[in-house]
Order: sequence, then C-alpha cells, then structure tokens
Amino acid sequence: MQYATLCETYNAIESTPKRLEKTAHISALLKRTSEQDLARVVVLLQGKVFSAVDKQTLGISSRLTLKALARVTGASTQELEKEWSRTGDLGLVAQTLVSTKSQQTLFTQHLSVEHVHTQLVRLAHTEGKNSVDTKLKILSELLSNASAQEAKYLVRTVLEELRIGIATQTLRDAITYAYLAEHAGIENGDIVDRDAYNTVTAIIQSAYDKTNDFTKVAQKAIKGLKALKDVHLTVGQPLKVMLGVRGTLTDAFENFSLPLLVQYKYDGFRVQIHKHEDKITIYTRRLENVTEQFPDIVERARSCIRARTAIIDAEAIGIDPDTKRYKPFQEISQRIRRKYGIDEMAEKLPVDVRCFDVMLAEDTEYLEDPLKKRHEQLQAIINEHELFGIAHTLITENETQANAFYDDAIAAGEEGIFAKHLQSTYQPGVRVGNWMKIKHTMEPVDVVIISAEWGEGKRSGWLTSFTIAVQDESGVLQEIGKVATGLKEREEEGFSFKEITELLAPLIEFEDGRYVRVKPEIVVEVAYDEIQQSPTYSSGYALRFPRILRNRSEDKTVDDITTTDYLTLLYEAQ
Ligand code: ATP
Repeated sequence: MQYATLCETYNAIESTPKRLEKTAHISALLKRTSEQDLARVVVLLQGKVFSAVDKQTLGISSRLTLKALARVTGASTQELEKEWSRTGDLGLVAQTLVSTKSQQTLFTQHLSVEHVHTQLVRLAHTEGKNSVDTKLKILSELLSNASAQEAKYLVRTVLEELRIGIATQTLRDAITYAYLAEHAGIENGDIVDRDAYNTVTAIIQSAYDKTNDFTKVAQKAIKGLKALKDVHLTVGQPLKVMLGVRGTLTDAFENFSLPLLVQYKYDGFRVQIHKHEDKITIYTRRLENVTEQFPDIVERARSCIRARTAIIDAEAIGIDPDTKRYKPFQEISQRIRRKYGIDEMAEKLPVDVRCFDVMLAEDTEYLEDPLKKRHEQLQAIINEHELFGIAHTLITENETQANAFYDDAIAAGEEGIFAKHLQSTYQPGVRVGNWMKIKHTMEPVDVVIISAEWGEGKRSGWLTSFTIAVQDESGVLQEIGKVATGLKEREEEGFSFKEITELLAPLIEFEDGRYVRVKPEIVVEVAYDEIQQSPTYSSGYALRFPRILRNRSEDKTVDDITTTDYLTLLYEAQ
C-alpha cells in the first residue's frame, strides 16, 4: 500500500468529529489492506510504530526532526521555529514547508507503507556512535520523498503525536465493518440486525481486552469469526486492567445483589502477576514490565502462588518493616522506575502484596466467571505469607457490618474500601459499576501537563505554573485550566518544584519568554474543591482551587488520564 493512501485516511479521520464517519474511513482502508501490510497499517493508524504489547518507543526529539526538516526544505531553523511556535504542531510546519519549498524537486520515489514502517523501526533501533547522524539521514530520506500531506503525518508519527482521535471503539467497529459484516448483520454499510452486530463487536472487544493488541485482533478477524473466538489470555502477556467507579456503600447495597464483597482499597500500585511454572512476570497498571525492579515480589509470587500457571491482580503497598504500617504510594513510587541498586531498594523500601483477583489459573480462564468463583479460586491457590496474601475481605449482607469494615479500613490508614458485586465478571480495560470505590476524600483527577511557566524571584529556575488537560472520548487532549499550588519548595517535603521541573525539562518543545510548551507525558494527580462548567477551557470544565497532589507518571500514561465523560460523572455527583 502507498503511504499516501494511509495519509488520505488520516486526513479524512481528522476532518470529521463523527465517530460513524471515522469508522467508515478506517474500514474502507482496512478492506484495501493486504494481509502482509495489515500489522503495519494497524499500528500506524494508532500513531504507533510498535504494537501495544511491545514497549519500544521511537525516542526522536523535536530538535532532530526540526534539523531534518531544515536540511530537506532548505528553510532556516529560525524560520522553522517561528512557524512551530505559531502553530504548536511540527506536522503542520512540515506540511506548509514541503508544499511551498523547493523540496518538491527532491521528490523521487513514492513512499510505501512498508518502506515508511521499516525505516521508522530502523530509527528506533539506531543507537551508539554516529546514531544522531544515521537518524538524521533516515528522517531526511523519508521527508525528502514525502508530499506535503505525507510530511505532516510522518512528522507527527515520528514525534509520537499523531492524535487524530481514533478511540478503541472506533477501531473495533471498523474491524467489524471491514471483515465481519456478514456475521454482524451489516448490509450495504447499514446495521440491519442489531443483536448480531452487538454479538460480533463483543467478540472483537473481548479479543482486544485479552491481548491488548489490535494488530493481533485484526489479523484474527481477517481470518474470520472462528479465529477471533479462539483468542485466549497468554501467560506472560499483559491484559488491560479493570477499574471501578466512585460510589457509596448505600449505592452498593441498593444496586448489588446480596451478599456483596467489601475489600480494603490499598494505596499502593497495581501489579499484574503472571506465573508460568518458575517464571514470574510483573506488569504495572500501564502494562509496563517491571519484573526486574521487584525481585522480592518475584520470589514471593513463585513460592506463594500454588498453581503452575496463573494471572493475578494485586496491589503492592509500601510497608514500614518495623511498625508494619503501610506507607503512602509516593514513598515507594521510586521503586517502579529504578534501574540500579535494586536489591538495596527492595530491602530499604519493602512492599506487601495483596491479591484481589485471578484471571487465569492452571491454564483455565476465569474472566467470564463470577467474582464469587474467582475469589474462591484465589483462596485456593494463594499461600499466605507475611508480605504476600489476599486483600482483606468481607462478604456480607449486612450494611452496618460493611460500614464497620469501612471504618476499620480508614483507621488502618487505607484509602477506603471497594464494594464488589459477587456475580460480576472480569472486564479488562473497563471502568465498571460492579466495582465501587468508596473513599473519604474528594476524588482527585489525573491530568497531563501540556505547558508551564518559569517562576520568578526565589522560584526562578523552577517551572511553577502548569496548564493541564484531560482527554475526550477520542483520546484528544482538552484543557481544564491552570494549577500552581500543591508542590513543595523543599524536596524532603514531598513532590517538589525541583522534581517536576526535572521531569518536564527534557520534554520542552518550545519556549517563549517564561512560557514553555512540553510534550504531554507527565501525569499528575490534582485535587480541587469543586468542578465547574466553563466556557473558557476546551474540556468544558474548570477546577476550583486545584492543587497538585502527586506525580502519577510512574504508573499512568497520558492514555490513563481522566476523560471528559468521567468528569461529567464527577460533576453530576457533586
Ligand atoms: P487511585 O488514583 O485512587 O489509585 P485510580 O484512578 O488509579 O484510583 P481507581 O478505579 O480509583 O483507579 O481504583 C482502582 C485502583 O485501586 C486499582 O488500579 C488498584 O491499584 C487499587 N486497589 C487497591 N486495592 C484494591 C482492591 N482491593 N481491589 C481493586 N483495586 C484495588
């Protein structure tokens, strides 16, 4: 397939906010895609070069891209920077320049999807001596053969900022239309049998939830429904985690059938533990492999999980070895990123692991089974150890008893409790009403920082004011305001100006006086007094008295930040 064809589709998707139209454009593209090109097209559609389970990244800076653009178009770096600051999008800069500059004469060869993808993979793999030159050469070659539109999307892909707004659901539906129309009751592009359609999309969704990888899903779907139904969990490959919604115990007792399950909500970080005989693999909630960072969890999981194969959901919580009290998440979050001195760290900052769900045991999948059965299964395969065991749980029909359980959780220093419906299945990647989190504090939001300002006076040298964004249902970032409080002046007091500046500095894409625009990667948790509707910000909401509570970048990516839909829920629940 020609890269130009893919770019036409990007353009069509970007030009419409309507989900149905986006779906139609993607499905038309998929129909034209050969089996050979399928994996490449699917990752590139998502603005990626590697599939979601492959954690490699491109790591190409805006500076290098700017240099390649200058080289190819003959424009000066100043000229490029001026345009960049005006539009805030290097892709647009590339498009304008390529359409107006002498570069057109260099246009020698049409780019194919295969060539572009191969070169992007090469870019990611280039390291060591002379790597900057080699990368510059690869980028320049691609750009010099690109049309204006191709240059725009190429640059955005290279910078991992495609963001044309394809939601998971859209991709799922496009696969249905492209490959499974006859099973899904679709005739001439219209759904004529809604039940059949829902059945098929549910099968695709389930395949995606289990693999977390649309490449694999598309490759199965093109072979037919039978192949798709045959997608199973694979031990060692992470699946998306299930999440809960905010509620009260009264809500839970009104809405769930009784008895229900209540469980401590620990303030640690999520670990998905995979066991295959002696091999243990640990993933965070971002599905990053952190096995090496947690030799202590590996060792305990090996001896405490009494099953040959298993996939378990658990929370790892920092614990004070002397007092046996839990520590807040911030105090152990550094272990997640640690690359050296790991054993020392494990000793200095031990964690306790509390398991709360099981998705697979002894090669049997439990996703479709009710929580009651999964909980029993968990009890059957976990050997309790001082620092490894099952989350503190009570199954009850009695609301007074559940309230007392909640009080115990708060007294023990936990964040609150979860109330879980005993008949509920495990739905990966979904925020479900069957898991209700009951906390005593206002629910903070997770936002990404998109720009900031340098401080003045005694705060000069630090970034001190931050523009923050949430995501809409298509994953496009939408501003929700500015935050300048919550951070500490002194490092020993907690999340500090110095720390946030160090996190953001390598991500600066553009500076103008005190203003800096940063690549949207740093996720922070923000508390507030109230959510208000606001015409000022693109999300439609603003936060009253926002304050930064903590850095969440260790366990959350920009894909995990609060959505506008969830904000609406929080707004209405106030
Ligand atoms: P928070 O910011 O409070 O951790 P969140 O946005 O990460 O919330 P929530 O849906 O509020 O996600 O809570 C789910 C998280 O709570 C899980 O990802 C897990 O890390 C943690 N957790 C702690 N104890 C439990 C438990 N018993 N059952 C399920 N999740 C638990």
